Amino acid sequence: MYDTAIVGGGIAAFTAALTAKNLLLDYLWLGEEGFGDKLRLAEKVNNFPTVTGRGSDFAAALRMQMEAEGLVLTRGRADGIFRTGEHYTLSAGGETFTSRTVILATGVETKGRIAGERELLGRGVSYCAVCDGALYRGKKIAAVISSPKFEEEAQFLARFADMVYCVCLYPAPKLKGENLVVLQKTPTAVEGNGRVEALVFGEERLPVSGVFFLKNSAPPDALVFGLPTDGVHVKVERDLSTGLEGLFAAGDITGRPYQYAKAAGEGCVAAHSAYAFLHSLEKK
Ligand SMILES: Cc1cc2nc3c(=O)[nH]c(=O)nc-3n(C[C@H](O)[C@H](O)[C@H](O)COP(=O)(O)OP(=O)(O)OC[C@H]3O[C@@H](n4cnc5c(N)ncnc54)[C@H](O)[C@@H]3O)c2cc1C
Repeated sequence: MYDTAIVGGGIAAFTAALTAKNLLLDYLWLGEEGFGDKLRLAEKVNNFPTVTGRGSDFAAALRMQMEAEGLVLTRGRADGIFRTGEHYTLSAGGETFTSRTVILATGVETKGRIAGERELLGRGVSYCAVCDGALYRGKKIAAVISSPKFEEEAQFLARFADMVYCVCLYPAPKLKGENLVVLQKTPTAVEGNGRVEALVFGEERLPVSGVFFLKNSAPPDALVFGLPTDGVHVKVERDLSTGLEGLFAAGDITGRPYQYAKAAGEGCVAAHSAYAFLHSLEKK
């Protein structure tokens, strides 16, 4: 029986594990090795303290810290998390674990990918206008927008890019701007030889140097039964507690902005909140 089970392999989970270790909690850190694509494949990180290079360099620095601090990662992917009496049971590829608390840091999944989207991630494909928009100053890019709520992010891209082709997958887009062109058709692929060169619509090719996919994804309540969510995000309080007692959430999964600094900070807060929760149980 662990004090806390941290689920996820990115920066939020890393910080939660580091904080849990420093608080002398008996933790299970369940996730993938390498800190995830969203960290490893970032082209250039310029908004996290002390990090000035590629995501892969960031990941290498985290690995060094992990080793120096003796952080233990159990490789695996949680496929179900259930409240069983006073604790949680986690299943991962046939194995089960039990823990008094859980910190969910599984990020936001990007479902419904088109051909080339995964392969060119970090090489012209991005999911985060705020993070990568500035990399496309003076260039022609496309934004594939799944819902009107992302129009603001597309407008943000237009501050940097020469031209933003806004591929709106919903009716009646309200986007306006000198360097914004609204297209209402469905893309079929992203093409490029090692870097994005075009967004493809069947037989038609639109030459661009970057494609932003501004979209929602799989809901976290698919993993944790009964978890209150708001779309793809987990509903959290300021201490990152969720609607399930003893279950905390951190990182992209709690909502925008999708940024390393926010995810890292939340990992720390969630671990402290799990610690406080465990102490409150002892007093009962
Ligand atoms: C290409 C790219 C570039 C970016 N550049 C920047 C940047 O320059 N600056 C910036 O601030 N932000 C940037 N971002 C955003 C940033 O990557 C995210 O905000 C950050 O990674 C969120 O961290 P996280 O730990 O919450 O989630 P993630 O990084 O998404 O990590 C979640 C992890 O959990 C794992 N996981 C998922 N489900 C399970 C499960 N069931 N069991 C176990 N593990 C699971 C995943 O495999 C993944 O490893 C970029 C994103 C992308 C895609």
